[in-house]
Amino acid sequence: MKNVVESKNLSFSYNGILALSDINISIPQGKFVSIVGPNGAGKTTLLKIILGLIKNYSGTIKVFDKNPDEVDPALIGYVPQFKTMDRKFPAIAIELVASGIIRKWPWRIRGKSKQLAYEALSLVKSEHLAERSLSSLSGGELQRVCLARSFVRNPKLIVLDEPATGIDAIGESDLYNLLENYQSKSGATVLMITHDWHVALHHSDLVLLLNRRQIAFASPKEALSEDNLRIAFGHIGHQHNFRGEN
Ligand code: ADP
Repeated sequence: MKNVVESKNLSFSYNGILALSDINISIPQGKFVSIVGPNGAGKTTLLKIILGLIKNYSGTIKVFDKNPDEVDPALIGYVPQFKTMDRKFPAIAIELVASGIIRKWPWRIRGKSKQLAYEALSLVKSEHLAERSLSSLSGGELQRVCLARSFVRNPKLIVLDEPATGIDAIGESDLYNLLENYQSKSGATVLMITHDWHVALHHSDLVLLLNRRQIAFASPKEALSEDNLRIAFGHIGHQHNFRGEN
């Protein structure tokens, strides 16, 4: 099967300052892939390149066999960083979900878009939230609605940027269950940024460990070895947890 994302010697600098250096990855369809690294490691920059938002990189990258900015947007569902959400925005949940289909803000949702938005909410078991204002939702509820928005066009790649930030542990484990359900139904690929390597160890098929350069791209156990974590983070944090993992 073709790779969903494939890069060769991908590098990028902001005004001469290197943010990513020589990234070589091949992500097959249907895998759960985590991008792990400390703050400033280039994780978001890599995501922006994959989403076609940064174009002046060097090396090559293909997404669904195309240049990233030429990919059909319906193929990719994006869950942005939680902290970038404006909770005070005067909208209800179903409108946020429908904004994944309708490019301008869907103040009145009708017909097919309404049906698709409800179907997406049902995938995250949240039809009951449809009419609730965004400001009344808990962090976990809002994250489910954002997830529904990313599912609404039945994408083949879901991209998430630190999706667990700002939600509690129950909300977080819900999130991974919902993602895994969607994956098993749709065969989609999941690409998730996290600075939490414990999460990556538990939920991924493959891990890209980054600190501007590629430290490893391998199975979670191999990529997140003690040596690699030390190289990436300078220390490995809760070492006792790591030793206990399977
Ligand atoms: P991460 O997502 O891993 O925290 P980023 O990709 O956001 O890392 O950033 C990588 C590096 O690039 C950091 O040193 C950051 O300060 C720098 N950087 C990110 N965005 C910009 C920008 N728009 N202009 C200049 N430097 C940037």
